[in-house]
Amino acid sequence: MTSSPQDVPFFELAMLHEEILDDLDVAWKSITRANAFIGGEIVETFEQRFADYQGAAHCVGVANGTDALEMILAGLDVGPGDDVIVPTNTFLATAEAVVNVGARPIFVDIDPDTLLITADAIQAAITPTTAAVMVVHLYGQMAAMDEIMPVCDAAGIAVVEDAAQAHGAEWKGQRAGTFGAAAGFSFYPGKNLGAFGDGGAVVTNDAELAARVRSIANHGRSTTDHYLHHVVGRNSRLDGLQGAVLNRKLDELDRWNGMRRANHATYVANLPAGAQPVAVRDDAVAVHHLEVVQVDDRVAVRDALAAAGIGSSIHYPVACHNQPAFAGSGSFSLPIAETSTERIISLPMFPHLNTAQVERVCAELTKIVG
Ligand SMILES: *Cc1c(COP(=O)(O)O)cnc(C)c1O
Repeated sequence: MTSSPQDVPFFELAMLHEEILDDLDVAWKSITRANAFIGGEIVETFEQRFADYQGAAHCVGVANGTDALEMILAGLDVGPGDDVIVPTNTFLATAEAVVNVGARPIFVDIDPDTLLITADAIQAAITPTTAAVMVVHLYGQMAAMDEIMPVCDAAGIAVVEDAAQAHGAEWKGQRAGTFGAAAGFSFYPGKNLGAFGDGGAVVTNDAELAARVRSIANHGRSTTDHYLHHVVGRNSRLDGLQGAVLNRKLDELDRWNGMRRANHATYVANLPAGAQPVAVRDDAVAVHHLEVVQVDDRVAVRDALAAAGIGSSIHYPVACHNQPAFAGSGSFSLPIAETSTERIISLPMFPHLNTAQVERVCAELTKIVG
């Protein structure tokens, strides 16, 4: 099919990067001159600014979001013999982090309206071997943290926030990384705050945990003696070039998240009844990483959108507990996720998507689902 000017892409970044291109040239040159290719002053500046942005005390830049989650678990001594509760509706990397520290993911069902993990599901899944829960702030909305924290605190289990899709999102005025033990962020290029390659961060108020993660991420190295290794760690660090991109983009993040919010409001005002958007709670300020709606007959709707030149995607088409990678975890049903997984479509959503484009998507959907 040939593209037309009327087409609406699912996602694109060209206009966003055009806004800051000249500044990025300057920033990249400064990295070259400073010879600061891994870590260094610009990465440290970014770490402090991103910790401040999230309202937390510490930020450790790492190589990607999956490593961030895995090293939080390792820093909390979660490992073999431990169970970690994971919502089945998430990107597989959440569960991958659990498996990669030797622990076992215990998948739980989700809220039918927000499609997020709930305090009740966590409560029902806690056993004596539960060590932690991965609270995923999926699609840009934080889970109900003031309901989740008391349940986890009472049971003595650690809360790890997967905030890979939730940079700047709030629950009752508080951001990810300030509720649980720590939050893991991804700076994959398509995330709300994206690098020019892979990148990630651990954000926490726990100074000891931050120090442990920083050490693990740098070969278990002592902070005071370059050739002293207290533990066997790994190599998962943030590059200077990525730090420079992230530093400049952080200046614009609130504005870009605001553009996403405005697009979401246009969707809500114009979507037909047959395309139900994921609910946003009154206590949440969402950053709309994805615009997910539920429809009947998803295949036909996506085909009709494609025929109209409108991009779409699915996040995620198979719930984690039904992925072949987790076939060994036994066969059981998580009915809410299994139902929503068949009904969800991700519509175009990015800051520079304009109102006319959102209205066009809604008009086409109205023709399709009535
Ligand atoms: C992107 C993402 C991750 C993984 O981040 P990477 O930087 O790609 O490793 C983890 N969890 C969720 C929910 C994500 O969206």
